[in-house]
Amino acid sequence: SLSIGIVGLPNVGKSTLFNALTKSGNALAANYPFATIEPNVGIVGVPDPRLQKLAEIFGSARIVPAKVEFVDIAGLVRGASEGQGRGNKFLANIRETDAICQVIRVFSDPDVTHVDGEVSPERDIETINTELILADLQTLDKALPRLQKEARFNKERKVVLDAAEAAVKILDSGTTLYSAGKQGAINLDDLRELHLLTAKPFLYVFNLDTDELADTELRARLSALVAPAEAVFLDAKLESELVELPEDEAMELLQSVGQEESGLAQLARVGFETLGLQTFLTAGPKEARAWTIRKGATAPEAAGVIHSDFQRGFIKAEVISFDDLVEAGSVAAVRAAGKARIEGKDYVMQDGDVVEFRFNV
Ligand code: GDP
Repeated sequence: SLSIGIVGLPNVGKSTLFNALTKSGNALAANYPFATIEPNVGIVGVPDPRLQKLAEIFGSARIVPAKVEFVDIAGLVRGASEGQGRGNKFLANIRETDAICQVIRVFSDPDVTHVDGEVSPERDIETINTELILADLQTLDKALPRLQKEARFNKERKVVLDAAEAAVKILDSGTTLYSAGKQGAINLDDLRELHLLTAKPFLYVFNLDTDELADTELRARLSALVAPAEAVFLDAKLESELVELPEDEAMELLQSVGQEESGLAQLARVGFETLGLQTFLTAGPKEARAWTIRKGATAPEAAGVIHSDFQRGFIKAEVISFDDLVEAGSVAAVRAAGKARIEGKDYVMQDGDVVEFRFNV
């Protein structure tokens, strides 16, 4: 499954956040009895109020949300791209993830020293991105002579060469390829074979003091630093306390600091979105469940997420939109109203489809 690598400078709250993710994952793990969770992986459920509603309609015994996996990637220091610290290990680990989550310190506790002497989100983002950009420039530097040779007699290779040369210019200007891609300045598909770090989707977690959480002006300023990438605002210390509390007490604590939802919940939602994923829903007496698929997945591919046999023997899918189901109140009522659709193997799944697959075994 897809994972998001957590990176950041020392003392920004990565471990604190990661411990909260791990605790939250342990609670979820009961839903995935056969999954082994590695010690450097933290899992968080993607909150989805539709599951509660489905469980009511179907009388489901439990709810299984979609999940997002975060991997703790230690060892980022200035000079990592030149092998400083555990720089090479760091770059190898980050290459294996599907998106990059940067934790940026905003909290100002004088008892926690900052590696560069003072707290500056802007400079920290630049420090991290510079290391990733330098690593990509090294990769491109190595690849370019080969690409130039290949492009001489081959138009398709010329496309890749052109993209690589454009990438060098973008990186030289201090911009990540992900940002440039989002702004339409480069087609990242042409660079896929090079596995460049800054071409991965980015998201940013700003670790704030509790009293900064409701500061909309500050949040807008920080968002602007990282746009078009997404930003999540949380207090890692508060998150580590929230995961220890029963749900109602956690909610009370959140509301007392002006928040409606935990930072982990927001991180899960934004992470899921950043990875380009979506869900479809199934429900029955046993469970109401959200399953993860890539945007654009077809009905047989979706069936394959539940079981490979479902994909192999796929015949058709009965699809009901969540809203129709809630309005009608039951599957039987949706069918009677003629709103249950039978879809074939070319159907592209839509967010919020409630599905039952028919298949040969
Ligand atoms: P890491 O080096 O990035 O993994 O940072 P840690 O999670 O170990 O945090 C470093 C120190 O900062 C620890 O003493 C934490 O308790 C403290 N810390 C982490 N997050 C926060 C926060 O949101 N607010 C405050 N005041 N302290 C924090």
